[in-house]
Amino acid sequence: MDGTGLARRVVEETAHRAAEITRRTGVRPCLATVLVGEDPASVTYVRMKRARCAKAGIESRQISLPATTTTAELTETLRSLSLDAGVHGILLQHPAGPHIDERAAFEAIAPEKDVDGVTISSFGAMSFGLPGFTSCTPGGIMRLLDEYDVELAGRHAVVVGRSAILGKPAGMLLLARDATVTYCHSRTRDLSAIVREADVVVAAVGRPRLINGEDIKPGAVVIDAGYNPGNVGDVDFDTARTRARLITPVPGGVGPMTIAVLLAQTVDAASRQLGTAGENTG
Ligand code: NAP
Repeated sequence: MDGTGLARRVVEETAHRAAEITRRTGVRPCLATVLVGEDPASVTYVRMKRARCAKAGIESRQISLPATTTTAELTETLRSLSLDAGVHGILLQHPAGPHIDERAAFEAIAPEKDVDGVTISSFGAMSFGLPGFTSCTPGGIMRLLDEYDVELAGRHAVVVGRSAILGKPAGMLLLARDATVTYCHSRTRDLSAIVREADVVVAAVGRPRLINGEDIKPGAVVIDAGYNPGNVGDVDFDTARTRARLITPVPGGVGPMTIAVLLAQTVDAASRQLGTAGENTG
């Protein structure tokens, strides 16, 4: 499954919508990116996100805070961005640091600006099928499945991983599409036996090649959201591809879709806040 190609198309469409909003209102959609400390991977992720914003005609405002920032200082920054009419979306780069109460920080983001889909409010709305922003990686996974017309109703989807930003919301979105969902995690017994039953596998763990091709049911659809050092996913691609009907590569599968959804949701947020939602901006 070609995440790079689909992400390119989503970003193109997003750029078109961003340009239309700017033409109508004179305002460019704006994403505030908040980074605590200088973790090299986080710095790279934020740089990539800002570069994509620029390509899509989205302004990005970088707020770099020192590693010594307290939870109170971080929440104050996020609250003031939430009140800033010039900012339409807010991204707090995870991880914010071991001394930070990340949940408290995320909750300081106003739901209407939570374009990364990390607040309890966003998760609840998504789980109830109400309007709101989805967590970006699960949102990207669903777009990939739809792009390849993967039938989900009545199918057994096995999600390996249950983090708040990835595994758990991915399972909720699959459930909303009438899949029969099984969650697996670090305490799951006989993971292989459960994965072997799956019509759709979503790997969201962060353990290189945890899932072997032998565990893939012939004809299954395999989404590998894992990303491990050396461009290695959670699924052993070479063995799994011989059995899977469809499979995402690492890199070039889920990763590019995550950023594409972030940009699309930033433009959605701007459109709602600037009052162009519901009009034909396409
Ligand atoms: P996380 O918060 O560390 O969660 C990992 C999950 O995997 C946990 O639920 C954990 O179970 C489970 N797990 C750990 N070892 C396991 C095992 N041996 N068998 C079964 N389950 C196991 O990680 P995350 O933030 O969700 O990220 C997961 C992976 O996705 C990472 O590789 C990350 O780099 C990647 N990722 C990619 C993107 C993207 O854009 N492509 C975005 C986000 C994350 P417990 O809950 O029991 O601890």
